Amino acid sequence: MRVVVVGAGVVGLTCAVRLAEAGVPVQVVARDLPLETTSAVAAALWYPYRALPQDRVTGWARTSYERFGTLAASEPASGVRLVDGTEVLRRPSPDPWWADAVPDLRHCRELPPGYLDAWNFTAPVIEMPVYLRWLQARLELAGGSITRMALSSLPDRAAVVVNAGGLSARLLATDPTVTPVRGQVVYVEQYGLVRWWLDADGPTYVVPRAHDIVVGGSDEEDDWDRAPRPDVTETILRRATELVPALAAARVLGARVGLRPGRPQVRLEQETHPTGRRVVHCYGHGGAGVTLSWGCADEVAQLVIPGSEQA
Ligand SMILES: Cc1cc2nc3c(=O)[nH]c(=O)nc-3n(C[C@H](O)[C@H](O)[C@H](O)COP(=O)(O)OP(=O)(O)OC[C@H]3O[C@@H](n4cnc5c(N)ncnc54)[C@H](O)[C@@H]3O)c2cc1C
Repeated sequence: MRVVVVGAGVVGLTCAVRLAEAGVPVQVVARDLPLETTSAVAAALWYPYRALPQDRVTGWARTSYERFGTLAASEPASGVRLVDGTEVLRRPSPDPWWADAVPDLRHCRELPPGYLDAWNFTAPVIEMPVYLRWLQARLELAGGSITRMALSSLPDRAAVVVNAGGLSARLLATDPTVTPVRGQVVYVEQYGLVRWWLDADGPTYVVPRAHDIVVGGSDEEDDWDRAPRPDVTETILRRATELVPALAAARVLGARVGLRPGRPQVRLEQETHPTGRRVVHCYGHGGAGVTLSWGCADEVAQLVIPGSEQA
């Protein structure tokens, strides 16, 4: 059985790795190669942002947390690290709905000015350009391949197709509920920041990486503009500097935009056509495609190869 995975973002690549390592011949076809995708722009902090439904998302996020934890401990070349950080809140709040997915969430007593609650937890931080290259190499080692190809519809020759086309599922699966949620990030020089910070209102986040810091962000609904906007950069830096004042002195290196695949709920399900051809849809991960990637890939593998257990 040959499987064609459409999409070489984090969702498609992770599904492809998971299937190839289970012994399935896999070909990824994609219009954009991994470093050209929205996934390459992700901050990427493990955090279930703008993705539903809560119960499935919590399960997928928990699985991914565990898998990233293993990578952080055993594969430094993957670009995954476990980093402590703080989410701040403007009102006292109960634990978040996804709290079960992290092992060490605890409310903090000391709060930055203007905030009424906060919690600390350890989260995977995934340096996407490094990680996507590493995932591609892992796929190729397992016998999989990536071919650049822009499709106008899902392939109809393969017996099984995994649709991980992100925002393009709007066209490929004729699904108008998939809409862009534009996100802009700014890169500043790494001055020694070791913790991440997040205020999901805004959203405002500051994510330290090895050689730079990703500062976000924005979430403009139904906005297809991929060019960074100077006024948005200014707003992002102002909000982030209120949260982490030391950022004021950091040199700005650049800005990028990605279009998140927004959808009321992630679509992960199998469709069987009268010919017996199967399509497993896996798209609509909103602001959490990295966070959900391994959990979703496990479920895709179970649909493609019924009876398969976790790798
Ligand atoms: C600014 C920003 C910050 C973010 N931060 C985080 C974060 O901290 N944590 C987190 O978990 N998530 C974050 N996200 C969200 C995350 O980036 C997305 O959820 C994720 O990238 C979706 O992955 P994907 O593989 O589904 O889609 P994509 O990465 O968009 O990949 C889609 C693939 O499908 C291919 N494709 C599309 N159309 C066709 C076609 N017609 N023919 C062939 N191939 C096609 C594309 O070429 C591409 O290879 C962020 C997003 C943005 C924009």
